[in-house]
Formats: sequence, structure tokens, C-alpha cells
Amino acid sequence: MKLPNPGEEPEDSKAEMPKLLIPEFGMIQHYDEKTPIPILPKPKKSSWLTSLCNCFRGIELGYTTQKDLPLLEPQSPENAGKNTLVLDLDETLVHSTFTSLKSDITIEIEIDRQNFKVYVLKRPGVDEFLQKCYELFEVVFFTASLSTYANPLLNILESKNKNASRLFRESCSYINNTYIKDLSRLGRDLRHVIIVDNSPVSYSLQPMNAVPIKTWIDDPEDDELNSCWNVLQHLSRVDDIPKVLGEIKKRKWDLTANSLHKLIESEFIPASRGPFNSPIHANGDKKFQFEDL
Ligand SMILES: [Mg+2]
Repeated sequence: MKLPNPGEEPEDSKAEMPKLLIPEFGMIQHYDEKTPIPILPKPKKSSWLTSLCNCFRGIELGYTTQKDLPLLEPQSPENAGKNTLVLDLDETLVHSTFTSLKSDITIEIEIDRQNFKVYVLKRPGVDEFLQKCYELFEVVFFTASLSTYANPLLNILESKNKNASRLFRESCSYINNTYIKDLSRLGRDLRHVIIVDNSPVSYSLQPMNAVPIKTWIDDPEDDELNSCWNVLQHLSRVDDIPKVLGEIKKRKWDLTANSLHKLIESEFIPASRGPFNSPIHANGDKKFQFEDL
């Protein structure tokens, strides 16, 4: 049975397969901020193809998430005191497709008792990036894709680390026909939360917690994860992420390691917060007051 390629309608199901239901991973990130997310029409009848598409698009999900409960358990002892780093998956760390290609990872997912192969390309530097993130942050993978696909992929992607939490589509907030990652539901102090995501709509509720990253498909020369890490390692020491990122924005500085270094080292006094050396104001004192601006 032939699967459609992204951007292509299936030969045998054109009548009942709306074009927007072509399987894609991480549905949100293919639309920019100015493009409204389309409302998906309800399929006329259930078929293997419909089920497959629903896996990534989500038409009738009937979520039962209890929104009053935190999405995460309290920090584990090994992560206690670390800032929390929320990492998107698709087009941030990997790119996945049903199209057969030379891939870094191949997984099989089961839809309606049929197996499908998913071909996954890893963004350049992703393994090293994750290893460094585990050391300095409490890592949380948060994807708008379904666990059917994301869980086996993460099992391989983070094979050397088992401590990261995972949140899937059912943990997103469905607002205006799109999936948004509401960081206030994590159960963490937002002053200590950072999200790295290629889709601005994903963090539209807490933009000052975000380190944007370019969408990645297959560029072998991409160096964004390295640049991102240069920023993150500074933020790992920050005691109030939204204030620091807001200050960068106020000053119309680019979000770079240099601008963060300048702000943190010159205007905050580094002090000890356990092993993570957060620039909590030494001796209760601060050289710089955001409120003074
Ligand atoms: Mg994404």
C-alpha cells in the first residue's frame, strides 16, 4: 500500500483526503505566524489512511487531561535546583517523513494494526547538544505530535539518558485550532523555565521564556544547535529567565551568547545556587534592578 509523500495527495483517496491531511510531523511549525492554522474538515469515514493522518494531525482527540494538575512530577533529586529546559522535537531536533530515504533513525509505528515506517533525520550536533543539556538542565521533551510516534523515537534519540520527561500532544492546550505549549501548566516556577522551539505559536503564551530556533529540515551545514547551546549555557545560570530575555528584547539586542554574557556578568552578581551557580543576587544585593528601567 503506497503512502502519500508530503505535499502529495494519495492516488486512491483523493475524494476523501483533504489536502491538509497529508501526514506531516509537528504540524504547527510549517505555518508562520501570519498564516492562520486551517480548520481541518471531518473525514467522511474512517479508513487506515484517515487513522494514519489523525496520528499526526489530530481531528477528534477527546482529550481527558486534567488541566488543574501539573503536567510534570516534582523535580527528581538529580535535577533539583536546575532550570527546566523544554525541547521541541520536530524541525527543532529532528525531521521525520514517511518517504523512504537514507535516515539516521528508522522506526515503525502501528496504526489500525498496520505498520508504517518513519524515516528520521537528526539535526547536526543533536547528540552532543542533548548530552550537554542533560548536565545543566532538567530536560523535558514537549511535542505536539502523538506518543505513538514520538515515544519510540525518543527511546532511540536519548538512549543514554532516561531521566528526561516527555509530554505529547494531549498535554498541549488546543486554542484557536492549534496546539500551544502552555508552560504555566508544567508545575514549575516560570522564572526557571526555558523553551526551545522552532514554532513561535507553540510558546505564544510565554514568549519571554523562549529561545527561538530556526526550522530545520535537512541542511547538513546547519549549526543552530551549537548557537543555541551558547545561549542556553548562560541561561542555565539565570534566576529569572523572562526578566533576562525581556531585558535583551528591551535593549534590542540579538539573543546571542555575547549579549547574554554582557547582561548577566556585568549586571547580575553571580552567586552560588548549589552546583548551578545561578546569578542570584549575592548577599541579597543586586547591582541592577529591572524595576529601575
Ligand atoms: Mg517543531
